[in-house]
Amino acid sequence: MAKQIPSVTVSRLVAYLRVLTALEEKGVDYVTSEELGAAARVSAHQVRKDLVHVRENQRQGRNGGASDRGHDHASGTRGRGYTVPILRRELSSILGLTRPWNVAIVGMGHLGKAIARYPYFESSNFALRCGFDVDPRKVDPTNELLPVYPMAEMPERARQLELDIALLTVPGEAAEDAARAIERAKIPGILNFAPTAIAVAPPGHVESVDFVAGLKRLAYYLNPEPAAEAEALTADD
Ligand code: NAD
Repeated sequence: MAKQIPSVTVSRLVAYLRVLTALEEKGVDYVTSEELGAAARVSAHQVRKDLVHVRENQRQGRNGGASDRGHDHASGTRGRGYTVPILRRELSSILGLTRPWNVAIVGMGHLGKAIARYPYFESSNFALRCGFDVDPRKVDPTNELLPVYPMAEMPERARQLELDIALLTVPGEAAEDAARAIERAKIPGILNFAPTAIAVAPPGHVESVDFVAGLKRLAYYLNPEPAAEAEALTADD
């Protein structure tokens, strides 16, 4: 089913959820849209707009029918703001974070190994189940940290382990082939770390973590005279 909430809104919902989780851990009961916006670096108006939008979407059952017992009460008491635990549960439910997700790493090189050691997986809904690699020297099915299987076993392992998400950490030139293998193995989600644009057929979905694109965006924002340089380029044409 096509998702109705725009991608930029989903990113903001993830940011609100991070803030709400921290507030709940501190025992805070209520948060206003001003406070939530300030902590998530967006305006209070944007917070209210996003929350009205996602709630309407959820009511109309267009978001996979996800619902939460408390969602009607999340707007809280006027003046006190949103009820933190209720809104946190509501956003977790909308984002699909109330169920476990089985994750594999495809490409057990420098980045794949570093991710395998990252402790986040132990305390989240994302369970790291195994790795895959084309290089027989990286294959290690009895590895205690993470069993690593050959690519040829991906369809069988994906079925056995009910894999939902592949973290794609192969070199850029191998990303397309690896993505097709992931698709054939019916693993629907790919988090792509390679600097190559890849796509999969719906209902599969790809999200990309582009570290080099982030550096280039930083260069743009840090560069003191981008306009003057652009003018010089135009003049040379
Ligand atoms: P790496 O060469 O150390 O590891 C790549 C691994 O992928 C190897 O183990 C290789 O055998 C495996 N592989 C190659 N083709 C494959 C295929 N078709 N199927 C399955 N496995 C395959 O590379 P790395 O430094 O870990 O980087 C991996 C990717 O992550 C690259 O696309 C890189 O641009 C990106 N990236 C790396 C870093 C970093 O800090 N290392 C940071 C950001 C992004």
